[in-house]
Amino acid sequence: MKTYDVKCPICGHVNHNLFLEETDGWMECEKCRSMARSENFGEMIRLPIVKLKPYSEYKAAHA
Ligand SMILES: [Zn+2]
Repeated sequence: MKTYDVKCPICGHVNHNLFLEETDGWMECEKCRSMARSENFGEMIRLPIVKLKPYSEYKAAHA
């Protein structure tokens, strides 16, 4: 199981060692508690920082 370091799109805090594969890309920022999802974490093997969309944008795009 790989872990990822993910930068929160809301507050910029870097969340370490997230199991994105278990959550299908979802993470909850440990600092501001925002929900965000990466749509391409599987391709980010070499990059420590994963780009995320805010939860509100995800909801709007999938409404
Ligand atoms: Zn945050």
